Amino acid sequence: MKYEMVIGLETHVELSTATKIFCGCTTKFAGEPNAHCCEICTGMPGSLPSLNRAVVEYAATAGLALGGDVREKSVMARKHYVYPDLPKAYQISQFDLPLVSGGGMTLSNGRRINLTRIHIEEDAGKLVHRGANVAVDYNRGGVPLIEIVTEPDFRDASEVLEYMERLQTTLRAVGVSDCRMQEGSMRCDVNLSLRIPGETAYGVRSETKNLNSFTAVADAIRTEYARQSEILGAGGTVEQETRGYDADSGETHSLRSKENSDDYRYFPEPDIVTVRLSPEEIERLRGALPELPDAKLARYVSVLQIPEADAKLLTKYRAVSEYFERAADGIAPKSAANFIITVMFAEIQTEAERENWNPAVSAANLNGLLKLTEAGTISRGTQKRVYGEMSASGKPAADFVTAEDTAQITGDELRALCEKAVAENAKSVADYKSGKEKALKAVVGAVMRETRGRADAVLAEAIILAVIA
Ligand code: ADP
Ligand code: MG
Ligand code: ZN
Repeated sequence: MKYEMVIGLETHVELSTATKIFCGCTTKFAGEPNAHCCEICTGMPGSLPSLNRAVVEYAATAGLALGGDVREKSVMARKHYVYPDLPKAYQISQFDLPLVSGGGMTLSNGRRINLTRIHIEEDAGKLVHRGANVAVDYNRGGVPLIEIVTEPDFRDASEVLEYMERLQTTLRAVGVSDCRMQEGSMRCDVNLSLRIPGETAYGVRSETKNLNSFTAVADAIRTEYARQSEILGAGGTVEQETRGYDADSGETHSLRSKENSDDYRYFPEPDIVTVRLSPEEIERLRGALPELPDAKLARYVSVLQIPEADAKLLTKYRAVSEYFERAADGIAPKSAANFIITVMFAEIQTEAERENWNPAVSAANLNGLLKLTEAGTISRGTQKRVYGEMSASGKPAADFVTAEDTAQITGDELRALCEKAVAENAKSVADYKSGKEKALKAVVGAVMRETRGRADAVLAEAIILAVIA
């Protein structure tokens, strides 16, 4: 029996406010253990939390960017549980009146994923296992989080992964979080159940918690699908439970049978209670939203005529798209896009480098270089050399373009050189004619060598093709 999977995702995202949610401690990642703490974020008796206004604004911004409704009046609530990462034995969260309700996104396959809610809460500390001992680092305690909860609307892993990626892109674009899964600033819980295709009722779900990479989410979905279908296939019933994930084996394991919200004894947080946002404040936040990634992608494809795959790369990180738009000013957008993707992306290795995009050649300087090429003032060979010198120095193109560079070899002179190259590379020409397309490169290369890069390779190739036709 092939079962249909039903998945709902809960995503925790750390907000990048400078300070924590209820005190003035920094939210900086890493640092000496327990260095970023005070009596409030370690829950000392008698300390009083006061709500960081920026947290409410960041969370509301996230909600608006995801198409949700922001409540003018929402309520903080205590969620009780005992665990060493939370010294007060309750987490201040939201319960029946979260800051945001609704919203969602339409996936590339046309299916809609609805959001149930987005609420704000404080993060807990972190347990550090040292042999037989466990230490606690409270630096993360009190870091502001939003929890984004979807309806059980996903039907396979690829939908979940697309959602996660677009969630990341959107939250980064509006500047509320860096969403770095490797640093724990974005973590997902996968709720998964199975049912026989065609059934309308949902099956019993498991919840696999704290997945901190795309691989972990995909693994959890795969192994939970396999585990539950085996149980159901053998006539058994799936138990509602909370499961953990082991990155080494890629497997999930039972942690505890699922608690109900009753178990948490939620009640309104008496030290904070109501969070208010006026309609004017909500409209101000809506008005301050930048162009969102989906709209930007559509504009790049339809207005700037950039192929969709390239447009996706350019819109994934806000810094890259801003750089691209400045570099493309007044020239064919496609040539700026091509240069960034084929030359500049090839120079960097990691996702983090794209995220923190800050190349040695400024956008204005790249624009200057591309303008010279587009106008035919310098050849592509010269462009390449000049770009190298710009990268090394951070200086503009004009500093490296010599009178000799701009004297491009074209016309009859170039044609004569191409004819010479064809005559001197008869073997390559023959190879090309017999189907070895790459052989033509040798002939073009001969021309480029002869002109020391002062010819346009595309133009030279076109002439060579005409000569040998
Ligand atoms: P809790 O707060 O106890 O974790 P919720 O009812 O708020 O439970 O649901 C949490 C998540 O589980 C949501 O993302 C929801 O879409 C998902 N979910 C609920 N029921 C199912 C189900 N039967 N199968 C898959 N996911 C489910
Ligand atoms: Mg849950
Ligand atoms: Zn503190």
